[in-house]
Amino acid sequence: MTYRNIFVDGTPCDLGVENGKVCAVEPLAENVVSERLAEQQEFFFAIPGLTNMHTHSAMTLLRSAGSGLPLHRWLNEAIFPREAKLTPELIFKGALDACNEMRDTGTTAFNDMYFSIESTVRAACLTGMDANIALSVTDADCERPGLVASFLETAAQIADNILKAHPERRITLSIAPHAIYTVSGKHLQYLADFAKEHNTLFHIHLSETQKEREDCLREYGVPPVVYLEKLGVFERTGSRFIGAHALWLDTDEIGILGSYGASVVHCPNSNLKLGSGCRFLYTELRDAGVNVCLGTDGCASSDNLDMVEAMKVMSLLQKGTRNDPSVLPADEVLRVASSNGRKALGLPDNSIAVGNAANFFLVGVNNRIFNGMNLVGSSAAERNAEFLNRLIYAANGNIISKTVTQ
Ligand SMILES: [Zn+2]
Repeated sequence: MTYRNIFVDGTPCDLGVENGKVCAVEPLAENVVSERLAEQQEFFFAIPGLTNMHTHSAMTLLRSAGSGLPLHRWLNEAIFPREAKLTPELIFKGALDACNEMRDTGTTAFNDMYFSIESTVRAACLTGMDANIALSVTDADCERPGLVASFLETAAQIADNILKAHPERRITLSIAPHAIYTVSGKHLQYLADFAKEHNTLFHIHLSETQKEREDCLREYGVPPVVYLEKLGVFERTGSRFIGAHALWLDTDEIGILGSYGASVVHCPNSNLKLGSGCRFLYTELRDAGVNVCLGTDGCASSDNLDMVEAMKVMSLLQKGTRNDPSVLPADEVLRVASSNGRKALGLPDNSIAVGNAANFFLVGVNNRIFNGMNLVGSSAAERNAEFLNRLIYAANGNIISKTVTQ
């Protein structure tokens, strides 16, 4: 089909999509744009799909639970007791809500950590989402015999029963240790060995709170990233390491993460809601070679899965905490929220170009947020910058008209 009147990187085009792939990007002359605008035809901007790099999808069922509690009380008093009552069918329903919410707000890929991975895979396939879906484990899970064997069996069943029917989906499976305070060093090494042997991602909550860091220093004499390095986790996982939060780091830890080409995921809304902190060291991490990504976290702490809102909060926090309005501008935070995440998940480039998979969202300009924008007469770069600034700082994901995936 042809999507008419689409700005791609600020250039007006008619955009052809066939069999899930972009097959034509045909630029429109300025007089054609003027004519179509005079006929009151609607125009849209197309943006590559976003990547939510830290989710617990089914937590849509626990939305906003435990408001007002700090992380450790929040987990023990509000979250773990509710999670104990979840069934695979409930997790499927929660994950389906999550996938629909992500899709509606421009996200086309996500990195999940939860239980009953089969339920989340089903939800992702039904909604056209790509994902890494990880089984979240703690010491109790690792101590039960047969964890790896049962995971591999589940993975084989998922491949047979679900993924075969959805060959266009890019879905990987992995085992995620919950955190260094719920998984012992011995088990972290065991899971890192598993990730190395099976070439899977290694997704873990890392240095989320000052308490986690201080407890680690007291118990092991070193901060969390050094502790993981000493255990040999980075040596085994390298660029397949994904640390969610990474909020409380020192310079040495940033250097270690960079030297292994690891990824970290900033989850600004969750960190603010749980009072975990707000000084994410974006510039330092980026400059050290760490692949910085963006996520929302689950809906119990981030309340929604809107990556457009998360981009705004991330960018504003950097500007505000550094007293510098030039830090993390709109185009850069968009890269953090889209291509950096795809790189971490091993997904192909989703820029809107002939031959690439169709993987983008559309925003109609017939909305008062965009009144006064110059759709003709400005350069493509100026138009794109103006659009991105208005989308990220003035709107949120609910403004998105349509999300297209392969
Ligand atoms: Zn989390």
